[in-house]
Amino acid sequence: MLKIYSYDISLTDVPNEISLAFAVAGCNLGCRDCFWQHLLDAPTQILDDEMFQTLLIKYQGLISCVLFYGGEWEADDLITKLQCVHDAGFKTCLYTGRTRVIEPIRANLDYLKTGRYDSQKGGLTSATTNQRFYDVVGKRDLTHLFRTILPTR
Ligand code: SF4
Repeated sequence: MLKIYSYDISLTDVPNEISLAFAVAGCNLGCRDCFWQHLLDAPTQILDDEMFQTLLIKYQGLISCVLFYGGEWEADDLITKLQCVHDAGFKTCLYTGRTRVIEPIRANLDYLKTGRYDSQKGGLTSATTNQRFYDVVGKRDLTHLFRTILPTR
């Protein structure tokens, strides 16, 4: 079951894509400077199949990608949702604080951001960041693009 705080349209979190971005609740990685700490007690809602499919239909022709970020999830539920996104004709992206994801998840991703947030090193827009952003399909590291486009999370 995947719980979210909210969803929004993002122009900057996935380079060259217009993304429907879901803020996933329940991250337990505990990055010391997590910028989402204020959300820990915020209300959440279950992103059930009906709501998810309704949103995918609603945004047809308006977005090119669906992004999940900020939280952790049950692998089977996430994989099912990623497959639904591809079936709807959109690309997929996952932001995780982990350094890698299991292959069944990776196999359903077009883009992947990895790495915990470390305020000393900075996020994706920082030249010293430990985080990486990959084009999974093209097998390219695209992290450098975040220093040449608009600031991101
Ligand atoms: S991975 Fe992201 S949401 Fe999770 S603790 Fe770290 S900064 Fe916070």
